[in-house]
Amino acid sequence: MIQLYVPLNFMGFIYREIKQSVTDLEAMFRLLGEDPEIEDAPGAPPLAVRGGTIRFENVDFAYEPERPILKNVSFEAPAGKTVAIVGPSGAGKSTISRLMFRFYDVGAGRITVDGQDIREVTQSSLREAVGMVPQDTVLFNDTIRYNIRYGRWDATDAEVEEAASLAQIDGFIRDLPRGYDTEVGERGLKLSGGEKQRVAIARTILKGPPILILDEATSALDSATEKEIQDALERVSRGRTTLVIAHRLSTIVAADDILVLEAGRIVERGRHAELLAAGGLYASLWSRQREADEARETLARMDDDE
Ligand code: ADP
Ligand code: MG
Repeated sequence: MIQLYVPLNFMGFIYREIKQSVTDLEAMFRLLGEDPEIEDAPGAPPLAVRGGTIRFENVDFAYEPERPILKNVSFEAPAGKTVAIVGPSGAGKSTISRLMFRFYDVGAGRITVDGQDIREVTQSSLREAVGMVPQDTVLFNDTIRYNIRYGRWDATDAEVEEAASLAQIDGFIRDLPRGYDTEVGERGLKLSGGEKQRVAIARTILKGPPILILDEATSALDSATEKEIQDALERVSRGRTTLVIAHRLSTIVAADDILVLEAGRIVERGRHAELLAAGGLYASLWSRQREADEARETLARMDDDE
């Protein structure tokens, strides 16, 4: 018993760690099967996706009972629209994406997709309908082709390459001596953060889910790469219901709706111009980022002058 107890406990630990980082969650589910902490309702039907409208209705959530994280969060992401979530770090943005994937169940309220409570459909059907491009993609120790095809196993080579091309990583791959057969990951070619993210985007394009969650992490990239990734992300999200967690506000000026989250509450919402005009938290986050950008540009110019 002791022998069995320890490894199981250890797996639980690993499981929570992975779940927290929302890195390669699909790989995790393949390794561990269904989510051990969340169960399908008896006789739950699969999710029937029509347009992919997401609704959060008065959602409360806490990881630990004494510390509420989300407080009465309500919003709708209509079918095919893009809703951005912004706010200071720790506000609860990634928590919203974890709830959307049903890594955890809400404490109060409900989350629906096309009117169906996500607790009342199978987890596998929910996760099939949702594609996530995480901040940190962990690649499998296998070829680039395998890593992209992971999005949809029955895809042809041509489809894999088409997806790579939409994600603007096809040229890079073709320039490698072994092309799509290049081994990547821990033991293979180490890709940069931006390259890995584009592989993840290609995988998601191939999967073609009706609902997308993008956790942008482009601030660490140079601006040319950032622009390319941005274009690729825009292309994927066209016609799909998209939740974008935005670190750089310049990337979401065109969003159909922007939710400003602060300490677990939506404190402002609207389109970019409306929020700027309101002169609240969004406007101050925006001007702070503008100043930081200008300072960076000035420094870059000074470097060039030397
Ligand atoms: P954001 O993405 O906006 O930076 P998160 O949604 O990741 O914020 O986290 C919101 C809050 O929840 C933070 O205070 C964070 O410390 C806390 N939190 C996140 N995950 C856990 C967890 N597994 N257990 C306890 N608290 C957590
Ligand atoms: Mg986060």
